[in-house]
Amino acid sequence: MRAAQLSAGIADSATLVAVSKVQPEQRIEAALDAGHRVFGENRVQEATTRWAERREQYPDLELRLVGPLQTNKAAAACELFDVIESLDRPKLARALAAKGRAQRCLIQINTGLEPQKAGVLPDGFDALLGEARGLGLQVDGLMCIPPQDEPAGPHFAFLAKLAKANGLTTLSMGMSADFETAIAFGATHVRVGSAFFGERGVS
Ligand SMILES: *Cc1c(COP(=O)(O)O)cnc(C)c1O
Repeated sequence: MRAAQLSAGIADSATLVAVSKVQPEQRIEAALDAGHRVFGENRVQEATTRWAERREQYPDLELRLVGPLQTNKAAAACELFDVIESLDRPKLARALAAKGRAQRCLIQINTGLEPQKAGVLPDGFDALLGEARGLGLQVDGLMCIPPQDEPAGPHFAFLAKLAKANGLTTLSMGMSADFETAIAFGATHVRVGSAFFGERGVS
């Protein structure tokens, strides 16, 4: 099984977050049967339908939200996800902290300064980190999605440097196309969808 080889191959250097959005149920079941337990999703509603019951069934499951989060879905996201990788604005930090739980999060950085992309701009990072910590959120580290039309390496290097300067240890970076590069730059988590499960939309 390709997925099993992939996880075995990188297990020593980073955690493989299997991004299961839009994948057919049989592939999820196969991954669970193979012992995989760390999954990423990008939509709260879809993820809740898919994982809420399985949470009971697999107590060692770890679920990570990797997609953008609307403030009005923050409570539902905290309910389901162990880690929210897409914290990118003060208003969302306040919504995540509303339940008074030390929700684990990563701050998503828009390293490519892309107007349409989620993530806080590097300029706004210090203030957001300060606010999130002040609210009692547990900020584990940083996440980024480099621009598609640029080499990813410099973005990964930037993220690693920013994390180090702030004493943050988790680095979620790298997807199917560039996870090896990300590992070379110190990724602790790679978010791999199609290279793990097969192409989305094909069953
Ligand atoms: C879909 C998605 C991935 C996985 O993408 P692949 O190219 O299939 O590996 C990783 N991170 C985020 C934020 C995603 O939305």
